[in-house]
Amino acid sequence: MHPNANNVVGGDANHGYDNMNFENTLSFARQLDKKDPLKSYRSLFHIPKKNGKEFIYLCGNSLGLQPKAVEKQLQIELTDWKNLGVEGHVHGKRPWLYYHHFFSKSIAKLVGASQQEVVVMNQLTVNLNLMLISFYRPSGKRNKILIQANEFPSDYYAFEQQIKLHGLNPADCIIEVMPRPGDVTLRTEDIIAKIEQHKDELALVMFSAVNYYTGQFFECAEIGKACNKHSINYGLDLAHAIGNVELKLHEWGVDFATWCSYKYLNSGPGGVSGVFVNSKHANSFDLPRLAGWWGNDEKTRFEMRKHFVPQPGAAGWQISNAPVLSMAAHKASLEIFDKAGIKALRKKSELLTGYLEFLLRQKTEAGGVGFNVITPTNKKHRGCQLSIQTQANGKKLFEKITKAGVIADWREPDVIRVAPVPLYNKFEEVFRFVELLR
Ligand SMILES: *Cc1c(COP(=O)(O)O)cnc(C)c1O
Repeated sequence: MHPNANNVVGGDANHGYDNMNFENTLSFARQLDKKDPLKSYRSLFHIPKKNGKEFIYLCGNSLGLQPKAVEKQLQIELTDWKNLGVEGHVHGKRPWLYYHHFFSKSIAKLVGASQQEVVVMNQLTVNLNLMLISFYRPSGKRNKILIQANEFPSDYYAFEQQIKLHGLNPADCIIEVMPRPGDVTLRTEDIIAKIEQHKDELALVMFSAVNYYTGQFFECAEIGKACNKHSINYGLDLAHAIGNVELKLHEWGVDFATWCSYKYLNSGPGGVSGVFVNSKHANSFDLPRLAGWWGNDEKTRFEMRKHFVPQPGAAGWQISNAPVLSMAAHKASLEIFDKAGIKALRKKSELLTGYLEFLLRQKTEAGGVGFNVITPTNKKHRGCQLSIQTQANGKKLFEKITKAGVIADWREPDVIRVAPVPLYNKFEEVFRFVELLR
């Protein structure tokens, strides 16, 4: 079924939970919370409050909440710095020299990779640029990048500038897959058809696995098959996917990926990013890349030799030494993911977002403002976020619910994005949010 089908609130009642008869009552929402095997995880987070009252925080897709353990993890590094100075690099509780190694196992599990295929470093758009340098290699008429319509601006800027760095014209080299007239989201068959149509001109297919605006989760494996078939490099931006949906980057034939850690990974504002580089490129030392001492062979890093000798695997794309303080927060958050497991989180997430969708379907307007959900109804084609498209005066409606204690976000021109996060959101909050919309 096309993910866009039955998108209109109040339309077909196929909410994807045939085995579950949801009810539009507070007591039912509370019952779901009571039965939730992950309910204790909420207590591991600081929930923002005003005048002692907790906000209904539905904005984990923009900035995840702070795990209480962040303070302790940061304190460990501050104490080592205070007491050891530079010696902390080697004699710290977690020696700073090796800091990026401490994340490989947790991140590999989240993205579906081996440990050698991932490394934590830098920021998302910086990493995207680093990856494009290695994996966007235009040659002859194979010089184009295929992307989704309405890609996040930061990514778009990176594509444009990278194309210009090759002396090419972005207008000639970017192909966007557009929704069909009347659709908001994309159909997999249209994406594949575009790849087939341009197979001899594509140097790269680069997709956000989950679109920031519509919340659509693309069929990454299918796209991967089409790319691999024609030896087209395939990259994914996981900004809205990591920690939200299950990922199998290696299995999907992805060449490279990058993400940020401050959205669903709850690692703090501007938190450290990371990259995945498929093991088939682990020893591709001829691939052009930017370089710095941290990507150099660890055994000779401090011999201060000339000439870069990259480490095998993703680690060979590092440039600078690790931002330990920001990474300490990342550590606190990943320990929670290790414990909960992405499979269990996703299971709750499907139920939680399914419940939100069910409740939204009971109405087509709020406070005189008409709305409908543009996110795919099929749970396989979305993560936890639902995007509510408003008709006239949507911004006013958004301001009203904000005043009433909801933290969500507004995306121009007309969308309210809400993301119930399985680690800390409750079914009761989802219920109260929809009541407030009334
Ligand atoms: C959040 C987000 C970014 C942000 O980029 P930074 O480099 O972390 O500032 C970029 N791309 C996408 C798709 C995003 O969702």
